[in-house]
Amino acid sequence: MKTNVIFGPITSRRFGVSLGIDLSPNIKQCNFDCLYCELRERAKQVGFQSQTVPVDTIVSDIEEALNKFPNIDVLTFTANGEPTLYPELDELISKVSPIAKKFKTKTLILSNGGNSWLGSIQKSLLQFDKVKLSLDCVTEECFNKLDRPLKGITIEDIKNGIIEFSKIFKGELYIETLFVNDINTKSEEILEINRFFQKVPTVFRIDLGTVERPPIYDVKPISYEKLYSIARSFSSTLPIMIVRRQNRKERDLSLSKTELLKTLSLRPLTRFDISSLCDEVTQRNFRELIVKKELVVEKIGDIEFFRPTY
Ligand code: SF4
Repeated sequence: MKTNVIFGPITSRRFGVSLGIDLSPNIKQCNFDCLYCELRERAKQVGFQSQTVPVDTIVSDIEEALNKFPNIDVLTFTANGEPTLYPELDELISKVSPIAKKFKTKTLILSNGGNSWLGSIQKSLLQFDKVKLSLDCVTEECFNKLDRPLKGITIEDIKNGIIEFSKIFKGELYIETLFVNDINTKSEEILEINRFFQKVPTVFRIDLGTVERPPIYDVKPISYEKLYSIARSFSSTLPIMIVRRQNRKERDLSLSKTELLKTLSLRPLTRFDISSLCDEVTQRNFRELIVKKELVVEKIGDIEFFRPTY
């Protein structure tokens, strides 16, 4: 049976050329009901999928797609909802991992983190090469207001789950925080998020973003300046990346060379950050600093960040 499980390939700055695998292709099945959700369908939170696609169908669709598109960097497991609700996740990843190896591609799962504290889910997640967990809030009040989880899911369990998982996971762990205006942007919440990140023993990268596609509920993004100032307020030891879509028009940052050096000493940025965030003058200043060797490259995974030479 042919399904609509596979989508893409799409190129993403964060993960490269990605082939998507939607583990809930027909209806939304999620244990959260986030205010910023991009899915147009409203659905009550659920703890398991009632509609599933058989494992072998997904596996054969993946094989077929990989034969058609052999140069895929990453197989991205996602869902119209939450992919860890797929009941056969363990069997699925066990079958897909050797195929991914054969095609020299990595496996990635994008999870909202709501099940990350469950032993059975951790066991399945361990089999992925890359795991991305969301964490928008660290207090119950904020979590319940923004992510609106299924009854019984608590942010304390999720935080403990992330810490435990990071201790045993050998692959690349990503954490993503999405900021929504006036909800998780209060200074106390940000301070606590920063504290929590520092407790996670091994995190490969922390992606900070804001609402960028029309959300289903009436919530607003924060400005890039605000996002940038939040990122700067986090510990400089954290591998923070600011996520922003390439097609955003406004480039609000205007920095002299001195300001740019100061900024990069506090928070190294990528070429993409500079080109998507800064005005033309700042971009020219950036290029000149590179030519004069006043900036050096520091790599986190495949991503190059620039910081001052001194
Ligand atoms: S976790 Fe994702 S799919 Fe589920 S409600 Fe939140 S944004 Fe939507």
